[in-house]
Order: sequence, then structure tokens, then C-alpha cells
Amino acid sequence: MQTTKEGNAYIGELPEGCKLCMQGAKLVLFVSGLCREGCYYCPLSEKRRGKDLVWVNERRVMSDADVLKEALRMRALGAGITGGDPALRLERTLHYIQLLKTRFGEDFHVHMYTATCLSEEELTKLKDAGLDELRFHITEKNSPRVWESIHSAGRAGIEVGVEIPAFPGREVEIVEIARKLARLGGFLNLNELEFSDTNAPDLKVRGFSLRGDSYAVAGSRETALKAMERLEEEKLPVRVHFCTSRYKDAGQLRLRLLRTALATARPYEEVTEEGLLLKGVIYAEGNLERLRQRLMREFDIPPHLIAVEREKHRIETTREIARELAKYLKELRFYIVEEYPTADRLETEVVPL
Ligand code: SF4
Repeated sequence: MQTTKEGNAYIGELPEGCKLCMQGAKLVLFVSGLCREGCYYCPLSEKRRGKDLVWVNERRVMSDADVLKEALRMRALGAGITGGDPALRLERTLHYIQLLKTRFGEDFHVHMYTATCLSEEELTKLKDAGLDELRFHITEKNSPRVWESIHSAGRAGIEVGVEIPAFPGREVEIVEIARKLARLGGFLNLNELEFSDTNAPDLKVRGFSLRGDSYAVAGSRETALKAMERLEEEKLPVRVHFCTSRYKDAGQLRLRLLRTALATARPYEEVTEEGLLLKGVIYAEGNLERLRQRLMREFDIPPHLIAVEREKHRIETTREIARELAKYLKELRFYIVEEYPTADRLETEVVPL
């Protein structure tokens, strides 16, 4: 078993979808918040749960152009199609797979999550649209019928696996699932069970507690690792990957932000280790373009280091230039701003100068 410094562990080769995710190169396409399973541990936020809306990364999707724009912004090498359950909006899912494959080519890797027992016909449609990898979530409702679909997905030529949370104390069940997958040539992804705003009351009622250093459930990691040790002893030909909650939340997100920030940073923006953008910001009344011209002239600022940001109605520049200007221009308001490189450019810190 191999372990990573973030606490992840794996046996055998990682699924292609995970490899790209670990580079921060996967676009997250949320095709609908609808789902029939009703799992008590579902971590979906109120904003998305049960709402038939589409999101790409953190952006609401209003048109295909939004999806393509976001993929280009982060130089995505693939996409993970998620929800809710994407299979409940199969036509929409097929449309997005085709859209991405047509625009970015066959090598653009698309994986999808589902808890639906898909028919052979539906699986063939997904394969024909270009789906590369399918991850089934086994739930109390869909088990054991879902195994038939897992089998059929493999036969349809889709790389298939199971992705489930590791429930504390349930290593026997995990080993049993892995044994079945070994026979089918599928992979097993284990996620550390975690608390979210929406599932916390249900997890608490069932006696789960916090691990302490994160939102992870105590005992989930130990169970996953114990099961993996047993699988190694059995020398089963199955690929298993355990992903910690901290890595899922912080690691993958940080890498995706970093990738987007490096691809989209303007010449006056600095990219932090966390993948955020740092810059100087000037707020003023009146004509901002005229003010920008004046600042360039009077303070000898190269044009590419100062720009008018129309959506936020402000002038942006480097931190150093903003600090320098703040010494002389008391009538303007200067700030150092740190923000996400996401479409909404959400600010995380605003420090007045
Ligand atoms: S299958 Fe997934 S999306 Fe659906 S309820 Fe369960 S955890 Fe939530």
C-alpha cells in the first residue's frame, strides 16, 4: 500500500479520473441537485440539494458557453460529472459529455458519479457520448441491484468502479465489495466520511463524532486502512484508493485554484501558494479610465500594470504601486485585496492602506 503526505492511500494504479483530480486539472460539472437515494450522510449543501440547477466549479451555468469558458479558464484536462445524481438528468449529462469531447477532443477525460441502476441501453448511450469512467455509489436503496449495472458498464467498455464513504467499523463490508470488484476488474474509491452543515445532525444522532483535526468522522480513516491492509494480505487484483476529507476539501480545491490562478492571473496580480490572487485596488468616483490615464502619466506606470475592472467598478494594480500611490493621493481609497481566481472573484481579505 502506498501512502501520500496528505494521508491518502492506494493499492495499484490510481483511476485516471483521480490522477487528473490530483493535478487540479478536473473541471467539476454539477449537472443537477436531484437525487432519489436520500442518504442520511449526504454532504450536499442547501444551495444545491434538490435543486435542478447546473454548476461548473463555483459558477452557476446559464449556457454551454459558461461551461466551456470555465474549462478554458482553468486549462482543464478533464471533467468530473457529479450531482445529486447526474443519471436523473441523463439527456443533459449526455449533452455535456458530447459538448466537452467535441470542444476539447477525445483525450479530455470525463468521469461521472451515479447511484442509479443504469440499463444496458443507458450505459451504451453514455459510452457513445464519450464517457470514460463511471463511479457507482452503493446505497441502502440501490444495493444489491446496482451490481448488475456495474457489471454491464464494464461490458460496455467504460472504466468502472465503486466510490463510497468508509463507515467506521464496516471493514468487512468494504473487503466484500472489493472482492466483487476484483472479479469484475473494477476499482474501489473510499472517501473519508465527513461532517457537513447539512448532514451533521443525522451523523450525530447515529453516534458519529468529529476526528478533531478536520471535518472527518472519527474512525473512518482507520476503517479504510484496515480494510486495505486485509486486501493487500489477500493479494487481490483490485485497485483501491482512499481519499481523506482534508485532501478532498483543501488539497484538490487548492490545486484547482492554483491551476486557474496561474492560467488567468493578470500581469499585476500575484498568485499565492493557496491559489489566490493578490493585488492593489483603488476606489474612486468619476471616470475610472480617465483616472487610470492620469496615474500612468503622472507616476510613470506601465499600461499592463494598471487596469480598470468594470464589473467591480475600481482600478486594479500591483500591491507595490498601490502602496506607493497611497502615500500621495489621499483623496482616493486604496486597498490590498486577496481573492479567489473563480468567476465571481470572491474576496477573502481586504486591507485598507
Ligand atoms: S447518492 Fe450521493 S447525492 Fe444522492 S443522497 Fe446519497 S450521497 Fe447524496
